[in-house]
Formats: sequence, C-alpha cells, structure tokens
Amino acid sequence: MATNGVNGSATNGDDHEGEFGHGIQVIDENKEFTTSMPEYLTSTNVLQAGFSYHLISVFGSQSTGKSTLLNHLFNTAFPVMSESRRQQTTKGIWMSLATDPNASSDPDQPHLGKNILVMDVEGTDGRERGEDQDFERKSALFALATSEVLIVNIWEHQVGLYQGANMGLLKTVFEVNLQLFQKDKSTVHRSLLFFVIRDHIGHTPLENLKNTLLADLNGIWHGLSKPPGLESSSISDFFDFTFTTLPHKLLQPDQFKLETQKLKLRFREESPTNANYSTDGVLDTSKTGVFLPAYHRRIPADGLPHYAGNIWRMITENKDLDLPTQQELLAQYRCDEISVVCVELFDEVITPFEAALSQKIVQPGLGPAMKTALDTALSKFKEEAGRYHKVVYKRKLEDLEKKLQARLKVLYVAQLTAAHKNAIAVFADTIQKGIKRSGADFASLVTETRATVLTDFTTEAEACSLEGAFSYTDELHSVEKELDEGATRLRGEEMTRLLARMEKGLRTKFTSEDDGVAYMFKTISPTLYPRIWTLFTTSVTDQIAVFTQRSTALNATSEENDQAVFKLKKRAWKVLRMVLDEETKEQGLITRLMGYFDKDFRYDDQGVPRVWKAGEDIEGTFAKSKETVLKLIPNLATFQLEDSSKPPLATFIGDAPEGAEEEIVNVEEEEEEDIASPTSTKTFIILTPGRITSLTESFNRQADQAFVDAKRGTISSVSQ
Ligand code: GDP
Ligand code: MG
Repeated sequence: MATNGVNGSATNGDDHEGEFGHGIQVIDENKEFTTSMPEYLTSTNVLQAGFSYHLISVFGSQSTGKSTLLNHLFNTAFPVMSESRRQQTTKGIWMSLATDPNASSDPDQPHLGKNILVMDVEGTDGRERGEDQDFERKSALFALATSEVLIVNIWEHQVGLYQGANMGLLKTVFEVNLQLFQKDKSTVHRSLLFFVIRDHIGHTPLENLKNTLLADLNGIWHGLSKPPGLESSSISDFFDFTFTTLPHKLLQPDQFKLETQKLKLRFREESPTNANYSTDGVLDTSKTGVFLPAYHRRIPADGLPHYAGNIWRMITENKDLDLPTQQELLAQYRCDEISVVCVELFDEVITPFEAALSQKIVQPGLGPAMKTALDTALSKFKEEAGRYHKVVYKRKLEDLEKKLQARLKVLYVAQLTAAHKNAIAVFADTIQKGIKRSGADFASLVTETRATVLTDFTTEAEACSLEGAFSYTDELHSVEKELDEGATRLRGEEMTRLLARMEKGLRTKFTSEDDGVAYMFKTISPTLYPRIWTLFTTSVTDQIAVFTQRSTALNATSEENDQAVFKLKKRAWKVLRMVLDEETKEQGLITRLMGYFDKDFRYDDQGVPRVWKAGEDIEGTFAKSKETVLKLIPNLATFQLEDSSKPPLATFIGDAPEGAEEEIVNVEEEEEEDIASPTSTKTFIILTPGRITSLTESFNRQADQAFVDAKRGTISSVSQ
C-alpha cells in the first residue's frame, strides 16, 4: 500500500498528494461504500485503538464553509471550493483523521483529543443534487448511526428562517433518529448537535440566536409524527445541544483563526463523568468538552469498517436500521475474523505437532506448547473480541475454546498412547537387562522400574493435561495394570528360562564322563540302576535347591515355585530316561558287553593279552566268559532298586500342585505311549524282552567270532 501522503494530510496542510491526502471517500458520488477504510485506519493507527477513538460529522447547506471549518479545526485537507469557481466540491461523504500540530510542539498545552475521525458530509441546497433529497436523508441516517457529535454549520442570517434548507435538514435528522429508535427503544443513544453559527457579526448575541434555534428545534420535533411508544418523547431524550459562533472568515481572518483554535479545544480528550447543563438544558461544552461517554457508539475501531459498511448497505437497501442487531451481526463477523487470526497463531505452534502425529512417539515439549498455544490464542481473542457484543463474544469464545481444545485433545490422547507404550517398553527392557545383570533382585527391580516409568508417564500426562482440563486417570490405571501383567509375564518367561537352564544343568550332570550315567555304565551290575537312581535324586534335589533360591529372587509365589519344581522333576526324569536310552542302544551295549567278555577271555588275570597255545582250554574259558557276561544282561532290563522294587519316582515327583498345567496328551501320543514320561507304566522298562533277545543274539555272534579268531590263532601258530 502506498503510504505517501497519508500523514501529509494531517501534519502538513500543503501536502495533499498521495492516496489518503484528503482522507478517504467513505461514500462516493455513486453511493458506493469504500473498501479502503481498513487500510486507512491501519495507516492512521486507529484500527487497534479499541474504543479510544471518536467519530464526528458535519452537516449544513452546500458551500457554507463546512470543509473550511473542519480543516481549521482538525488540520484536515478536505477540498474547499475556490473563491472563483463556485461549484460543489465535497461529493458523498469523506473521512479524515484530525490532527493537532500544537500537540507535538507542546504536549503540556491543552490540545485536540486523539483518534478523532471527522466525516465531511455532502451538503445540499437543492441545487447540485436537484431532487435527490434521498441522499441527504441517507447520509443523515448514516452519520447519526455512527457519529458522537454532529456539527451543524449554519450562517447567522439563516437562523430563524424556519423554512430554510438547514431546518429541512434538521427535520430529516430528527426523523431518522426516531426511525433508529423505533427498533431500539431499550438503549438510548445520545448525540450532540453542535451548532456553529458562521459569519457572526455580533449584533445579535449568541444567547438570542440559541433561543431562536432551540425554539425552532422544538417546533420541528413537535411537528413530527412519532412512532408508537415515542409519542411523548422530547427532543432532549435523544440530543444534547451546544451553540457557538464564529466570525466571518474572509472579513475577519485573524479573528476567525483565533476563534477556531479556541473552538478546537472543545474537542479535547477529557471525558467528564457528569455532563454540565445550563438552565435551558444546553450542554456547556466549554467546561466538559464534547466527548461525553454516552455519545460513543461502542464500536471497536477494528469493527468500524465492517459496521459502517453494513449500516450503509442497510440504508441503501431501504431496510429498517436496527442498531442492536447490527452490533450483534458485527460482533459475529468480527469475532469470526479475530478467531481466524487466533487460530493462525495457534497453528504456528500446534501444526508441527499434528504433522508429527503419524510417528506415534512421545513428542517432546508438547505440554508447554499446548499451553502456550491455547493461552496465546485465547488471550488475543479475549483482548480483541471482548470489546464486542458480550453475548456473541462469549458464545464465540466458547466455540473457539472448544475447537482448539478438540485439536489439543487429539494430540493429548496420542501423547498418552505413546507415553503408555513407552512406559511398557521401557519397563520390559529395563527388567530384561536387569535380569541379565547377575545378582539382580527381580522383586526390587520391578518395584523400582515400575515407579520410574509411572513417574515419567504421569509427568508427561500432567504436562499435557492443560491444568487438569484433560484427565489421564483411566490411562494411568491401564498402564499400571499392564505393568503388573507385564511383570507377571516377564517373571513367567524368566521362570521358563530358569527351568530350561536347570534342565540343561541336569542333562550335563547325567551325561558327565566323570560321574554321570555313562561312567556308571562302565560297571554293569545289580547296583547300576540303584546308583543311577541315587545320582538322579541327589542331582535333582540339589538343582531344586538352586532353582528355589533363584525363583524366590524372581519374586515368584510359592504356588508358582511349586509348579515349576514339579515340572522340573518330571522333566529331569525324562532327561534321565533319554540318557538311559542313549546309553542302552544296542551297538553301545554290545561294545560294553564285549569289553567285559574280552577282559575275561582275551586278557589274563594280569591284564596281559592271552596268546592261546595248543592244548590250552579255549572252550572252557570261552564258555565261562560268555556265561559271566550273559548274566549281566538281565540287570539292564528294568530300572529297579537293589531289592528289585520300583524306585519311588511318583513319590519323588509328588502330586501335581494346584493349577499345574496338565500335560497335553493327544491321541497319537496316547497310542504311542511316551515311555520317558514318569507317569508311563513302562517307564522303568529299559530293555524290552525282544531287545534283550536281540542283544543276547548279537553278543553271542560277536563272542563266537572272538572264539573262532582265537582258535584260528592257535592253528596258525601251530602250523608255523
Ligand atoms: P462547504 O461546501 O460547506 O464545504 O464550503 P467550503 O468550505 O468549500 O467553502 C465554500 C466557500 O465559502 C469557499 O469559497 C470559502 O472560501 C468560503 N468560506 C469559507 N469560510 C467562510 C466563512 O466563514 N464565511 C464566508 N462568508 N465564506 C466562507
Ligand atoms: Mg465541502
């Protein structure tokens, strides 16, 4: 926007160039309302003034020196008709900001009030606009609906001319005023009619002129037909009056200047609480100034363009002008506009967080950002929209609050969900790492980690809760519940791992070359299985002691521990049973039995290999050796104690504790019974009769072969 000349109109009377050199034409000759008022009010710094501005208008016949007066009073630059070419200069309605050059030179001296917007209204004398009385009526209505003070410019010699153009104008003003109040009887708008009597020669004192005018005004008022309810109203119900005179500008230029400078000070800033009326009801504005608060239309400056535009539209469309409704409509419009700006401020902070929602992570700094964004948006709204119609404002504030809160709620819920997930993950991770560190006490690890993650969760949730506007109690309970379930599951998993380790430990023990089953099988005798049974029970008992210690550290309940021990015992037997199967595979057993046989048959008592000589009793020794070994085989058939009784396996394992998972046995398994299971009826049968027969036969074959070899040895040694 071009700003040159905007202030020129105000500070330098000669500089009338530029876009706003003459202010703005609010309503042009085609009765169009301006679109540049927001720009103009921005360039003059009035837009953000709230209620701290004033709006005044001037009325009067064409070419009565209105524009000249305004320029002198307010340092404006309204075009003035030149002396030589007498033709209408002011078209439509112009607006310009008043300035006071004295204010900056000596601020302590009384000076013009701030932010006074002056409207120069096209005058009529029936000449230029011809029969267009309609425009006069419309511009009067417009000025009255918006202005606090109406300056009525009148020549002294016009006073008392009841039929004169001025009185026609005043009649119009009163009529349109009544029209305004027809709809709006509840609120009393007061306006000040400020009569400036021009070209005052001095023969007739002001007092007399005033009385004449007041009499005329009352006369006009009485002559008006009043709308229902306002029949008995008096003119002073709506208007205050004040009167002043000015000398002839051309004949007494210095006096004129002096008087206008004095008059200017009536438009000072002071707004007295009490109006000062003289006995005839006239306001003494020399004492009070003209800007009584009662005159202010209470339209915030930033709403003025829209409000004035709407008023003008209603007027031109010949609609009934209803100011309260207009104020409500304005409030709706402006509240919406302000709301948009507030949402933009909010967006600046919040949109990045919303964009990151898809990452489903805990967003750092969300809580403070939510609070800042909401506070900024709402406080701006309260500050700017709070000046408008209260009911509308409150409703729009609620709307905005709800809208913003709804968006924040989405972020909040997502943050809670992410924090929740985080809490569970950190908990599981910390516990798992903790378990791996040797000597970690599961119980206190769980307690500590639980407390830490819950504190983190609560801190984050609290930060985003907008001081309790959003609740997280349910989510917190759900986190707590999951943590407890998680702890139980982790303990279960750890118990399972522990069981597996214990089982592996037992397998290692059972398969040990030094003292395990294989070692015991080196000595096949009736004590073989009793020895293995002892190995089994002691190993398992030892392992259970270790296990119980560990499971206590895991904070397992005694039921959980009992169940695990029961399981461990059953598995231990299975492990042993499998080791036994491995050990009693035919090939292995044959090797062991042949070992026994060889020791007896192929070596002598000193362990020296025999070299059979002719005549030695090969047959006898062979038969004896074979006999000894064959006697060993039945010892292997059944796992039993020395007194041939079954080992007390069931007692050792004990009854299944309450709640122990039943071993799932499916049909196939039932058909092909798992003999390794301690509950199997055949679990103690290591070698079936069939296998014994087969073993015996295999052994016999190999032993016979040894005999043949031995025999062949003697023959060959003889033949040599
Ligand atoms: P407006 O049409 O009412 O705005 O009148 P202008 O301000 O344009 O002035 C119209 C004419 O009246 C101009 O030629 C002025 O020089 C002249 N004029 C201005 N002030 C006075 C005044 O106080 N007395 C007289 N007699 N003429 C004035
Ligand atoms: Mg003019």
